Amino acid sequence: MFELKKSNLFIPFKTVLLSFTFLLFFNTNIFSQTPHKIKTIIIDPGHGGQDHGAHGEYEGTLGSYEKNITLAISMKLVADLKKAMPDVNIIPTRTTDVYMSVHEKAQFANEYHGDLFVCIHADAVTLKTASRIVGYKTEVYHTVHYVGKGKSRKKVYTKHTRRVPIRHYYKIPTSRKGTSTLILAARQTNDKIKALEEGDLGFNTEDDDSTANINYDSPEYKASALLYSQNYFRKSYQLASLVQEEVADETGRPNLGVWQRQKGLWVLHATQMPAVLIETGFVANYDDERYLNSEKGQEEIAQAITDALVKYRKMVETPKTLANTAKDNNNTAN
Ligand SMILES: [Zn+2]
Repeated sequence: MFELKKSNLFIPFKTVLLSFTFLLFFNTNIFSQTPHKIKTIIIDPGHGGQDHGAHGEYEGTLGSYEKNITLAISMKLVADLKKAMPDVNIIPTRTTDVYMSVHEKAQFANEYHGDLFVCIHADAVTLKTASRIVGYKTEVYHTVHYVGKGKSRKKVYTKHTRRVPIRHYYKIPTSRKGTSTLILAARQTNDKIKALEEGDLGFNTEDDDSTANINYDSPEYKASALLYSQNYFRKSYQLASLVQEEVADETGRPNLGVWQRQKGLWVLHATQMPAVLIETGFVANYDDERYLNSEKGQEEIAQAITDALVKYRKMVETPKTLANTAKDNNNTAN
């Protein structure tokens, strides 16, 4: 169980405080007591264009690309959400196979004044290589020996043949499967929520924005990290928990939990709204890859996320329910 500490506004960094005040100016919701209405939800199909994301490369793979899976699920999610919440704007960051940088995606979400940012991804892991003998071939080799003595000493080559195995090298699919949801960690780390360490879940860095060139020490970064901690962290965590519950209930697949990260999820950080990144399943797992590429699988996941968003909306738009549900969620956080 964890409790969300009241963040301390009086932090020692003068510059941070100044930048934060600047941001406050544009975020009038922060100290508002009235229930927050969800007007716009941004759906972000992960990757796109030259950025393929994870790729099925194990033996027996469908050879699918994450960017296509995320787009297919997102399009179904957008359609389901429009049906479930006709009064809310549901806006995808892309509807075709195009590339957008994480900067562009974050800017897009902020310009459309999203109330929620939902990224759809699929997991990748580094796979082990194995080999098997698929045949034999004859290899020719020579040995050298000498005959004679003194000046008549000669080098003699003898030709030999031998049978050598032909090996086929292949990658072994991962046994990991299931759905997890990532959120950005709060600035003041709450150690009672499990923190994602590199390699904990076998995640690779595909979804790290290591190319985003972030200066984590800049006053701008610190100010927006503070803003996230105070205003968006708890909501992101609540939404992530609901997504995990609904996906597990409705798809019957493993629930790998909610994970928070300090760094690397820049796109979640840069969007000034609660944000989650859903790792729908593993492209490198035999069952998950087939599930994620099937109509049934995509529909089930889209429906489960829709149901989670409907519940989340009820929660934030009804303050009394929000308090109760937040308490329930916190009790089950361990
Ligand atoms: Zn991804």
